[in-house]
Amino acid sequence: MQRCDYCGRILYKNVSEKYFLCSSKCRTKYKNTKYLSKLEQSVTSVVKNGILVKDIVNKLDYDKFDTVSAIRRLIYQKGSLYIKANSEINLNVQVFIVRK
Ligand SMILES: [Zn+2]
Repeated sequence: MQRCDYCGRILYKNVSEKYFLCSSKCRTKYKNTKYLSKLEQSVTSVVKNGILVKDIVNKLDYDKFDTVSAIRRLIYQKGSLYIKANSEINLNVQVFIVRK
């Protein structure tokens, strides 16, 4: 199941030839690699076992879509976080840290 490289949602239509990106919005944002890694670091710094996605969003002063996208990347690409729910992530899903 291929996911968008930016937002981490399941990819139904790819708008990029080089990467996997679901929309022009994601394609534009994906170019800003500094912002991506900064946001991922911020998420990692506030996350703790069992925290809700919406609490991560509230703790950080970033765009909600960007924050949830960073959480999905950490789950589906980096594998440093996970969810127990057998569904796509939403604001009320708990996030857990993968033990290294
Ligand atoms: Zn996307």
